[in-house]
Amino acid sequence: MSESTIIYTHTDEAPALATYSLLPILQAYAAQAGVGVTLSDISLAGRVLANFPDFLEPAQRIDDALAELGQEVLRPEANIIKLPNISASIPQIKAVIAELQSQGYAVPSYPDSPENDAERDIQVRYKKVSGSAVNPVLREGNSDRRAPLSVKKYAQKHPHSMGKWTADSKTNVAHMNGGDFFANEVSTTMKQDDTLTVELVSADGEATALRGPLKVLAGEIVDATKMEAAALDAFITAQIARAKAEGVLFSVHLKATMMKVSDPIMFGHVVRAFFPKTFSQFGGEMANAGLNPNNGLAGIYAGLDALANGAAIKASFDAEMAEGPALAMVDSDKGITNLHAPNDVIVDASMPAMIRTSGHMWDANGKEADTLAVLPDASYAGIYQVVLNDCRRHGAFDPATMGTVPNVGLMAQAAEEYGSHDKTFEIPHDGTVRVTNSAGDVVFSISVATGDIFRMCQTKDVPVRDWVKLTVNRARLSGDPAIFWLDIDRAHDAQVIAKVKTYLADHDTTGLQIDIMTPEEAIGVSLDRIRKGLNTISVTGNVLRDYLTDLFPIMELGTSAKMLSIVPLINGGGLFETGAGGSAPKHVQQFEQENYLRWDSLGEFLALASSFEHLAQRTGNARAQLLADTLDRATGRFLDEDRSPGRKLGTIDNRGSHIYLAIYWADELAKQTSDPELAAKFTAIAAELEANESTIVAELLAVQGSPVDLGGYFHPNADKVTTAMRPSGTFNRILSDLS
Ligand code: NAP
Ligand code: MG
Repeated sequence: MSESTIIYTHTDEAPALATYSLLPILQAYAAQAGVGVTLSDISLAGRVLANFPDFLEPAQRIDDALAELGQEVLRPEANIIKLPNISASIPQIKAVIAELQSQGYAVPSYPDSPENDAERDIQVRYKKVSGSAVNPVLREGNSDRRAPLSVKKYAQKHPHSMGKWTADSKTNVAHMNGGDFFANEVSTTMKQDDTLTVELVSADGEATALRGPLKVLAGEIVDATKMEAAALDAFITAQIARAKAEGVLFSVHLKATMMKVSDPIMFGHVVRAFFPKTFSQFGGEMANAGLNPNNGLAGIYAGLDALANGAAIKASFDAEMAEGPALAMVDSDKGITNLHAPNDVIVDASMPAMIRTSGHMWDANGKEADTLAVLPDASYAGIYQVVLNDCRRHGAFDPATMGTVPNVGLMAQAAEEYGSHDKTFEIPHDGTVRVTNSAGDVVFSISVATGDIFRMCQTKDVPVRDWVKLTVNRARLSGDPAIFWLDIDRAHDAQVIAKVKTYLADHDTTGLQIDIMTPEEAIGVSLDRIRKGLNTISVTGNVLRDYLTDLFPIMELGTSAKMLSIVPLINGGGLFETGAGGSAPKHVQQFEQENYLRWDSLGEFLALASSFEHLAQRTGNARAQLLADTLDRATGRFLDEDRSPGRKLGTIDNRGSHIYLAIYWADELAKQTSDPELAAKFTAIAAELEANESTIVAELLAVQGSPVDLGGYFHPNADKVTTAMRPSGTFNRILSDLS
């Protein structure tokens, strides 16, 4: 890509719909500075199509945009705006396949149990696009996420509502106290570049390779651990009984999307433990029919009709559902429980939502109730218990006065991609997993039993070094104290702490306050400070980066969508992620039903201003800097005048919010004096937009209230979406005058 190009990603669901409205505005304005904005399709449907060219007609084939972006991020001129995309669970993979097939794309069906090489190859290709398939490819840098000052001030002036907390709340977190990933972890730092082999050795000494040779670099931290299936089952069974005894809802919180190998398996253990009689009596029959508890109850229920014993099995599920503790609901109106689909119980979004709602989840009647939140692995679960205890003691947090907790997160070069990758295995038989280096020395040896989940994880040295540098910079720029959330008693963290101490010494840290604390201590200190209106930088590994950049923004700002998320790429480029949340599937449902899109594009606006600024600094393009500065001011005014989409019909939605941004941006470009030619051009546009404001708003409101057909969910029809997302003819005409 040329250095005057910004790559804008075409993703999924709500952000993809919003793109149809925002991108034309962006392209028209950017063109005035000679900056091109090109679209790159990394949607789930796009990734599926790109991976199966051999099944498609030549005209249906598309380039592998994700692979191209994976190269682009290594180039110093990279400038990419990354919107949230679907991290697909297997049920979602099946849904996208069905949709594409119905549209005439002959992609193969998903083979649940591949029986030959061709089917195995198909499954491998689908696994490649499933789960967290995009972010690890693009994140060639660490993460710097914060609520910009204007956004924080806006939230303090207009605090969102927070559910009241009382001292008698019975909501708690349950995690394992042994036998889990946390307890079993071993870790080492490689002395030299090397190649590791990973094999499972049975009692009689026979070794089978678990994966091909694994290249590691000198200075790389490598860890290995296991989740013991027997300990997990005993733990879940005990928590089901505990929830019942305490009279609270039972809920499980995992990350089955990102941790695409480990967490669906754990989810399946929970489903089986909740219905022990059903699975002991009918488990074999369901398995033969390909009904897998790892994919949740929804898929099982849907498949029961086709079974001879279907009615009896459903009756057995119902009976056990009635006997057990009340299950937390994802959607009580539709009868969707916490165990229906693994992608519906994403810990980083579900825990903050619960904390914001008085520690409640919803029961089958749609009533709020206390819950036992089950997060099996102890590595990070404890931080949520600290928050719950704090709310019980001091009441809900107050967004009007609370401070902020920005995050500097380690994630470059797939650092700490726990459980998400090709080094996580469900163990087929008892034995020992042996990890050996090229000299034949045993690096790790872990005894395992059938069904245990073994995982390895890598963290390269360069990202850690860069993360420490980023931390020092952020602490210096903000003047706030920074805390590394690391636990010296955890094997992996002990290796990281050694590096952090070494690399901190490379920097001048005089006058800075930088500490290392366990996650529980760190969150305790951060919460005390936040209640006093003080800010504390959280410096964390990849998992806590994900969790905290939902937790704190949701408490402070009401949503993680309003975060500025910058990824300074190690080779000099810039990756600008929008917000810190997901792709808001509920918003699409609402749009399809009533032509109202409540997606807030503020994250996109913030990312764009940073992207223009980065481009200006690299290329010396003064007009790009002007676009950045004026966009920043326009966004400030957008917040002041409260132009974010409302939640309900009758107010302007996402599309209207883009038009107000365009008006304010044009206004700011008209007002600036450093580039008179540009000012003249935008004076005319601003005048026309302002003169037609009421007509445009009327055109926008007129379409609301009736269903919209987009011609697809994962792979909608571009013409239909364009029509739906650009309903103001008056605005479209004025915008085309600019180009
Ligand atoms: P989510 O899409 O963030 O949805 C949770 C809720 O957050 C939404 O229902 C909405 O609340 C609110 N929200 C998020 N972004 C918003 C925005 N820009 N404007 C207004 N409201 C916003 O989280 P999820 O349901 O856990 O995940 C959905 C999908 O996104 C999954 O496939 C997941 O894998 C993916 N995901 C992607 C990324 C990424 O690419 N970086 C990150 C996280 C998740 P209301 O319903 O109250 O309006
Ligand atoms: Mg998250």
